[in-house]
Amino acid sequence: MEERKVRVLIIGSGPAGYTAGIYASRANLNPLIYEGMQPGGQLTQTTEIENFPGYPAGIQGPEMMMQLREQAQRFGAEIESKTIAQVDFSKRPFKCVDDEGGVVYADTVIVSTGASAKYLGLPDEEKYQGMGVSACATCDGFFYRKKNVAVVGGGDTACEEALYLSTLAKKVYLIVRKNYLRASEVMQKRVREKENIEILFNCNTLGLFGEDGVEGAKIIENKGEENEQVFDIEIDGFFLAIGHHPNTEIFKGQLEMDAEGYIITNAPTTHTNVEGVFAAGDCADPIYRQAVSAAGTGCRAALDAERFLMEH
Ligand code: NDP
Repeated sequence: MEERKVRVLIIGSGPAGYTAGIYASRANLNPLIYEGMQPGGQLTQTTEIENFPGYPAGIQGPEMMMQLREQAQRFGAEIESKTIAQVDFSKRPFKCVDDEGGVVYADTVIVSTGASAKYLGLPDEEKYQGMGVSACATCDGFFYRKKNVAVVGGGDTACEEALYLSTLAKKVYLIVRKNYLRASEVMQKRVREKENIEILFNCNTLGLFGEDGVEGAKIIENKGEENEQVFDIEIDGFFLAIGHHPNTEIFKGQLEMDAEGYIITNAPTTHTNVEGVFAAGDCADPIYRQAVSAAGTGCRAALDAERFLMEH
């Protein structure tokens, strides 16, 4: 079993992780970045990014992440295409074990594991994963040109995905569990004005059906009320847009978190409750969740780690 010792271990590789890598390597700390299962993180699932400063013409998500990765490597960050599966933050150096059993002892750890899309928890979501079920309209929308699709959720993400899909698909159902949308006024207006989007308020999904892929969804309306009814909609694609959850399971019991699992930091620093462990990006941010804000906290985490190492 391979064992190694590093001054800075960065767990996760979205804008926060790579930016931490750029700063820590420029400070000669030879950081080691564990990229995890989805190198580049959530942005590798998007298309055009138009709101990251410095790209006036926009840039494709995967391309931007490749550039951030290269920038971190240029200054000496080492990148492992593996996942950290287990950590022990009870004493320094922190012992971290990867999915192949390799052990990394780290003087400091920067946690930047990001967040992942939530699913409803229906067995059918797994059954039809990649066969009609998706949590990323911009990634998979193209496959549903001139077909019928459904988006679940009533927030800004759901509206944005529904609007995007409405430019490709024949018809888009927006399945909303309450009798109102939570999205911003401007998004609600855009959705309402789209002729091929039908909003199904007070509706939940009971299951999906289809032979070789999704062909429809079973919907329950006004659940538990007198006027409760169950009906089917014919769809080829079923898109989840019900929010995200932070990827912090392996830190449970060791790092302080809020009820949803977001790591609590001592703002405005990135210090967690464990001295020498810092958190950056979406895993510690239930509010902003932007590439640029994640990159900003990645920078702060690297500076915090550098200072910590100087003091200890
Ligand atoms: P939100 O948490 O804002 O919305 C989640 C939606 O999913 C809600 O309508 C919620 O319903 C619904 N939902 C949650 N769980 C279930 C479930 N089990 N079954 C059915 N429906 C469910 O998440 P978003 O991802 O939309 O947005 C996150 C943040 O990012 C927000 O602050 C948003 O404003 C921001 N954002 C901004 C954008 C923009 O400005 N262009 C684009 C995208 C996101 P309920 O209301 O009943 O809880």
